[in-house]
Amino acid sequence: MIPAPSIYLIFNKEEKLNLLNGFIIINSDFAPYCSEVFTLRIPAPTNSNIIIRLIKSNDTTTYNLLIQNNNISISGKDEQAIILGLTTLYNLHLEDKVINKTIIKDHALYLHRGLSFDSARHFFTITEIKKIIEEMSLIKLNVFHWHLSDDQGFRIESKLFPTLASPEHYTQDEIKDLDYYCKIRGIKIIPEIDMPGHVSSILSVYPKFSCFETATTISNLAGIYENVFCPSKPEVYSFINKLLGEISGLFMTDIIHLGGDEVPKYNYKHCDLCQQTMLENDLNNYEELQGYFLKRVSENINKKIILWNDSLLGNYLPDNSLIQFWLNKTVELKAYNKLKKPIIDSNMYVFYFDYPLALLPLKRVYKYKSPFNNIQGHEACLWSERITSNEELERMLFPRLYAVAEACWDNKKNYRVFLNNIELMKKAQRVLISENDLSRKHLKVERRKYWQTVLNMPTVSSSEKGKTSLKTQLDFFRYFMKFSDFKLIKEIKKKYEKH
Ligand SMILES: [Zn+2]
Repeated sequence: MIPAPSIYLIFNKEEKLNLLNGFIIINSDFAPYCSEVFTLRIPAPTNSNIIIRLIKSNDTTTYNLLIQNNNISISGKDEQAIILGLTTLYNLHLEDKVINKTIIKDHALYLHRGLSFDSARHFFTITEIKKIIEEMSLIKLNVFHWHLSDDQGFRIESKLFPTLASPEHYTQDEIKDLDYYCKIRGIKIIPEIDMPGHVSSILSVYPKFSCFETATTISNLAGIYENVFCPSKPEVYSFINKLLGEISGLFMTDIIHLGGDEVPKYNYKHCDLCQQTMLENDLNNYEELQGYFLKRVSENINKKIILWNDSLLGNYLPDNSLIQFWLNKTVELKAYNKLKKPIIDSNMYVFYFDYPLALLPLKRVYKYKSPFNNIQGHEACLWSERITSNEELERMLFPRLYAVAEACWDNKKNYRVFLNNIELMKKAQRVLISENDLSRKHLKVERRKYWQTVLNMPTVSSSEKGKTSLKTQLDFFRYFMKFSDFKLIKEIKKKYEKH
């Protein structure tokens, strides 16, 4: 089982039970939805041979599970806890159709255990997303952070702004259906509408929201685009208010992600309105102008807000906000240390699963110890610029997502046991799982293949607009330089240094 339970006692010699023979769930303390998925996953007669009791408790553990003879009890403080307990019971059933007497006391290390999923760069169908979410649920991850808009696409139907959505998008009905699908699996969706940068797809429909009303086309290239929202136009804010009001209303969660990463400041420097805004509001630099934008947008949002760490430089953060860290050892880190805000640690060297296993191996994720002390949790991020098929998607996510589940769980870590558990997951064959081949030869081939793709991939960048992304690519590259081959290093440096 992944993640391994905190305390797990199994009594092999005792009487065993088989859930397929039928069971009855006694669920008086909780909303009925918490056992909905369990009964879908195990289609068995509803008779009284085996009784599963769901009990409300205030234990310090996340949930407790006790199996003895034909009596199963799961206790926890709320529906989320009970869903986790039922998930464990289902996992026991999957591993071995007959279940022994078992005592499990289980505890999550972090409240926030997630995956950031990019549907903007490449579109994935709801069917494929449901497959990933089912797998997340089985390993007790509880956050699906959905990156729904970016330069390359705007993926949600808007009834207020019907021309906004890209040809490939999710309808509002599909979104509500997915939201419920997640809820009954103990997962919340956090939608992300990235701003004020990464908005080419919006500006292609509404050029008037940028500083110079430049005509913008949607590009399918990776990179950072210069054209961003002008923070000095009132109509930008009224558009954002309406749009965010509509979109956040589609999801049950009380959180929205507003991005805030990689915002080129080139336009701001040349925009008269922006210069005026800075003067009138005593803003010292362009990062603070982005902070001003965030302040105006967040004033009208009564949900908790998550922002990428880039927003730390703006000298303004909403009270009810969380920072998601992706960059390490940067000026943002210094800014964070001053603020002491709670964070989600998505350190790109550990949790960016668009990098292949050869560059970001499984063991690093499993063994990761965060340098931050105020952590709400971890999120793996799967940026999809280079991911074009479901097969690739699954192979990039698994088995590393299993290691994220372990990193978020309070248990005795044992890497060998973990590897064995992955083998069991492979047998179940629900998703495609990469081979974690760590032989030198294989790693060399994989790394070369990856950097070759990066080299061949056209990238948008000029002046300062691509600085952050290129810098992080190069940093990442240097991080692995000691393993790589030098001819390739030279080629890559040449490519990046041209910009
Ligand atoms: Zn402007």
